[in-house]
Amino acid sequence: MKIGVLALQGAVAEHLRMLEQAGAEAVAIKKPEQLKELDGLVIPGGESTTISKLMHKYGFMEEVRKFPSERKPLFGTCAGAILLANRIHGQDEAHLAVMDMTVERNAFGRQKDSFEAVLPVAGVAPDFPAVFIRAPYIREVGESVEVLAKYDEKIVAARQGACLACAFHPELTEDHRFHKYFLDMVQEYRA
Ligand code: GLN
Repeated sequence: MKIGVLALQGAVAEHLRMLEQAGAEAVAIKKPEQLKELDGLVIPGGESTTISKLMHKYGFMEEVRKFPSERKPLFGTCAGAILLANRIHGQDEAHLAVMDMTVERNAFGRQKDSFEAVLPVAGVAPDFPAVFIRAPYIREVGESVEVLAKYDEKIVAARQGACLACAFHPELTEDHRFHKYFLDMVQEYRA
């Protein structure tokens, strides 16, 4: 199973390492031509507006948007989750717009710029170490979106079919259970 990590900006190397530890072949994706060979794609954290601009500039947007309908799962972490959302609170335009949810950027305020919390994540782990860095949260989700985790009453992880989003950074821990969950999704969609 071959999984790409979109390598335009952000925490790329960490995701590659985690995917390999969880049992996949992982490749850094720098050109849209590379997307064809993949079974799934991770969109890392970083700065969502920057990643979005680069995706448009290098011709990724339309190709990646087609992934869920081609049975190729997408996993967005932090900025990556913002890219997946259909709606961004306070902004007119969304980016990939493949998940029926509204996200709010930098949602935990300045005092809590970055922090860690151990959270139960449905289907993933009862005690996942979640690292939040200027994280967004998911304000609301549509009916077909499954909420996987909350922190402080706020939704911080969700899944809709072939799309998986989390507000925190599972790649910055030594715990690869979240990546394993994604690989199981990919397996399910390949079958
Ligand atoms: N604050 C960033 C954004 O809005 C996300 C931060 C992150 O990915 N660590 O895009």
